[in-house]
Amino acid sequence: MGTASQLDDATVESLRERLHGAVLQPDDDGYDEARSVWNAMIDTKPAVVARCTGAADVMTAVDVAREHGVPLAVKGGGHNVAGTALCEGLVIDLAPMDWIRVDPAARTARVGAGATWGDVDHETQAFGLATTGGIVTSTGVAGLTLGGGLGYLARKFGLAHDNLRSVDVVTAAGELVHASADERSDLFWAMRGGGGNFGVATAFEFDLHELGPEILSVRLLYPYEAVPETLQFYEEFMSDAPNEVGCYAAILRGSPEYGLPEPLHGETLLAFRGLYAGDVAEARAAFQPLRDFGDPIADLTETMPYTVYQAQADELYCEGHRNYWKSNFYDEISEGFVETLMNHVESIPSPYSSMFFEWMEGAIAEADATAFPHRDRTFSFTVAPKWTDSERDEEHLTWAREFHEALKPYAADGVYVNYMDDDEDDRVRAAYGDTYDRLVELKDEWDPDNLFSTNQNVEPTV
Ligand SMILES: Cc1cc2nc3c(=O)[nH]c(=O)nc-3n(C[C@H](O)[C@H](O)[C@H](O)COP(=O)(O)OP(=O)(O)OC[C@H]3O[C@@H](n4cnc5c(N)ncnc54)[C@H](O)[C@@H]3O)c2cc1C
Repeated sequence: MGTASQLDDATVESLRERLHGAVLQPDDDGYDEARSVWNAMIDTKPAVVARCTGAADVMTAVDVAREHGVPLAVKGGGHNVAGTALCEGLVIDLAPMDWIRVDPAARTARVGAGATWGDVDHETQAFGLATTGGIVTSTGVAGLTLGGGLGYLARKFGLAHDNLRSVDVVTAAGELVHASADERSDLFWAMRGGGGNFGVATAFEFDLHELGPEILSVRLLYPYEAVPETLQFYEEFMSDAPNEVGCYAAILRGSPEYGLPEPLHGETLLAFRGLYAGDVAEARAAFQPLRDFGDPIADLTETMPYTVYQAQADELYCEGHRNYWKSNFYDEISEGFVETLMNHVESIPSPYSSMFFEWMEGAIAEADATAFPHRDRTFSFTVAPKWTDSERDEEHLTWAREFHEALKPYAADGVYVNYMDDDEDDRVRAAYGDTYDRLVELKDEWDPDNLFSTNQNVEPTV
């Protein structure tokens, strides 16, 4: 792949003439907004951002990048912590393609590749329908789905991409193709877990399920001292819970952003947040054992619309902070794991930092095989420092790295590809696990020149 300088003025001008969407360079209005991503650690300045309005614009942008040998990146919702939405060459920004069309009778939704999970929940809940999505409304449908798609509904309905019926893809050759279980099934397999390696997804077709609009939102807070026995109970509870129960745990500092009263600000807390993918009365019964456990500081459980539930974590994970993630899968909450956790939690270096457990199992383990190789894992645990002062970068990075290192003896194999930071190229094989070799074969077929390389990259061998 060449350099951004291969995008000369004449090429940019011809891109402007051929695209419906705006073509932005550093001096243009809107350029900085178009190149901004969730993680403020990322300050990449692309030579050109092509704000594509449809598949035709994407095909043109891909052709230009390929023909001129220019580095290419694809931006969906811009949430990838490693900043893979950007490069210094040409960025295809899909934000204008945020359309959604729900077919309530067929219980499907067609979703443009620039949509966020907030957009999807808004449109589908109008019909009392939903599908597995992320836990923050501004996360992009595209990146989350292509890498996997964990969410509160995943134990009931599978990962986001387990609900995918088909996907439209612009290939490295600049052609638009449709992939599903019946058509280009190999490519369809690779697009479900293989990330952005195989082409630019322009539209997704999802299965939808009945849900809400009112659901039981479970929110429990425990004091830091109660972490060991409460986590142990959480493990027991989740091991027996029905698939309808989606419940995550987090250790964080109490703050106004988390909607907590003043006396809890600055306190280190263990928080559970969960829902039940079904009837509210059944939900109360299913969550009762967890709500009865120990001596919580607060039980903020209440019924609410699913769309309100899905927006609850937005402030906590808002844009504008500096972020760094270190993540692993685990099979159990062992004593050693908890001891290590307690040792490092004491020294959380900023009030915005957190660490979160995403319990898996259920339908995630039962779904058909895709390129996501971690279906047998019990939970994912991520250390996520979050801060504002760039002069303290090293302190936060070191805290997360040392914590992560100390947890290694208790971790299972693999890492979720969507949670990898930008210094983890050596973990790419672990992220694709057993599916790596087949992904390489398909990369050789669909993108032999590695046009789509600004991602957790599967390198072609041809
Ligand atoms: C606040 C926050 C909350 C999150 N919550 C969850 C969660 O609940 N569950 C979960 O599973 N993950 C979650 N994630 C992780 C998320 O899945 C990844 O960050 C994912 O990459 C985000 O997708 P995006 O489109 O927003 O990202 P982007 O940064 O825009 O894209 C990420 C990468 O995906 C690829 N890509 C994007 N769009 C396309 C496309 N249309 N075609 C081809 N390739 C494309 C590109 O390689 C790109 O580099 C969260 C992340 C954040 C920051």
